[in-house]
Amino acid sequence: MSATDSLVLVIEDEKPIRCFLRAFLERRGFQLIEAEDGEEGLALAAEHHPALLLLDLGLPGMDGVEVIRRLRVWATTPIIVISARGKEQDKVDALDAGADDYLTKPFGVAELAARMRVCLRHSATRTQDEQQAVFRTEGLFVDLAKRLVRLNDQDVHLTKIEFKLLSFLVHNAGKVVTHRQILKAVWNSDREDQLHYSRIYVRQLRGKIEPDPAAPRYLLTETGVGYRLVG
Ligand code: CA
Repeated sequence: MSATDSLVLVIEDEKPIRCFLRAFLERRGFQLIEAEDGEEGLALAAEHHPALLLLDLGLPGMDGVEVIRRLRVWATTPIIVISARGKEQDKVDALDAGADDYLTKPFGVAELAARMRVCLRHSATRTQDEQQAVFRTEGLFVDLAKRLVRLNDQDVHLTKIEFKLLSFLVHNAGKVVTHRQILKAVWNSDREDQLHYSRIYVRQLRGKIEPDPAAPRYLLTETGVGYRLVG
């Protein structure tokens, strides 16, 4: 890891949590810069170009969601929201504003480490589309370039829309995606009255790629928020 690859910006107003994150991240070879509010955080992000942002939502002054919106105007830096707000709508707002993932406090360090790995891997391969064109896990194999989907070594035939949906999920494997993001990616729509499309087509897709669609193994529901494709 080069210096910038390992630089994490923490925007969090609670000192004990900053200290906890510092100890955890430094043990894993990351370097940290810290901000107590959004204004300071945005200034540090512009100055240091961190590899990843860990962001609290409930901040003094500028709200965390507003921090995401402002940062996304000029930066694609992966953002993981760490928040005490457990409400689904808060998560959806943060993800729709451009956050990559979220954790609800209290959270486990193993889970944080796993989410960070996914985000960092994504940003490293963002320009190398081919690396994300294949999804392979026990039982399920997807090769987007060849339009090949196999479940337990059997070919799976998808409709155009189902394939588009699966492509979007494969490109975001490991990350949570919201109903709104799916609607935008698959139907190029942001109509509120079409938000249920994702539910309908996820159900259809599960019928084809899940061994037991009633108990999904790959295409998981993030209740009230969206879906996550996991390997
Ligand atoms: Ca806070």
